[in-house]
Amino acid sequence: MSEKPKLAVYWGASCGGCEIAVVNLHEKLLDVDAALDFMFCPCLLDTKKKDIEALPDGAIAVTLFNGALRTEENVEMAHLLRRKSQMLVAFGSCAKGGCIPALANFTTKNELLNTIYIDNPSVDNPGGVIPSGTTSFPEGDIHLPGLLWRVKHLAQEVEVDYYIPGCPPESQQIWNVIETILSGDLPPKGSTIGCGTLTVCDDCDRTKEEKRITSFRRNYEFYPDPKACLLEQGLLCMGIATRNGCGAPCTKANMPCTGCYGAPEGISDQGAKMVAALGSVMDIGDTTGLSEEAIAGRVDAFLKTIPDYAGLFYKYTLASSTLGGKVGR
Ligand code: SF4
Repeated sequence: MSEKPKLAVYWGASCGGCEIAVVNLHEKLLDVDAALDFMFCPCLLDTKKKDIEALPDGAIAVTLFNGALRTEENVEMAHLLRRKSQMLVAFGSCAKGGCIPALANFTTKNELLNTIYIDNPSVDNPGGVIPSGTTSFPEGDIHLPGLLWRVKHLAQEVEVDYYIPGCPPESQQIWNVIETILSGDLPPKGSTIGCGTLTVCDDCDRTKEEKRITSFRRNYEFYPDPKACLLEQGLLCMGIATRNGCGAPCTKANMPCTGCYGAPEGISDQGAKMVAALGSVMDIGDTTGLSEEAIAGRVDAFLKTIPDYAGLFYKYTLASSTLGGKVGR
């Protein structure tokens, strides 16, 4: 049995990108291994749930929990790892704010299952079977964890000590966090770590002029000027409402920031912040002498140039937002 402090990495409802970000530590993984007993990570190691259950409470020094909570199994593991861990970290945007899995909260659980298993042109399911808790086959029964009625982020189920944003978190930031944890010089509980406190715009070296936007365009419609602010060119860049710390790799690649680091420090709702920011740069022309209806018509025409604004503005934070989605908070 190793004497080193134990490190666990678990995934709930997620894509696996957070694990890739851990693997992208490359040779620094040797330093992680020298300092910590990396003992639980279902997609990399063969440690079983029963091995975790057998540990005394608080036996794991740090658990990095990535992924949202979509199933009863995710919830069970959240409680188990909370009990067994001295420090539980919501690792990545799914655990912090729900991220892409939580976009399902724009629909109900039944509508979701119907779209996936029944009313779908690429599905051949004449019996209308929807996988449920227990499904019987000639070979035996298969037990599936139930779906929650809505996707939650980690702190909606258990107490979280720290948050690391990103979809996925940048590997350099993961290393910074591990070094901070090892130093013992930690910020107050509940802090968001491995990032900055300002916005991506503060780290973006594109030229910024006065922003006046008359309509939006999609990425595929033109090749943006690689030096000028993308928002000013009519691309929906979320940098203005997104926490910095990633190093702005998307805007460096001539792509708009999609907002994966969530809201900047002191802002509770990223989507609302983005709407407020757009409200101040939206240019609907000279409205002198226009009726309220005519002005509202121009605003509507402007908004119609934004495809799926709820999905865009809340792509990473719907579960933790005031809006919450169709199925609420
Ligand atoms: Fe850079 Fe986007 Fe901010 Fe413009 S809006 S300065 S492109 S991060």
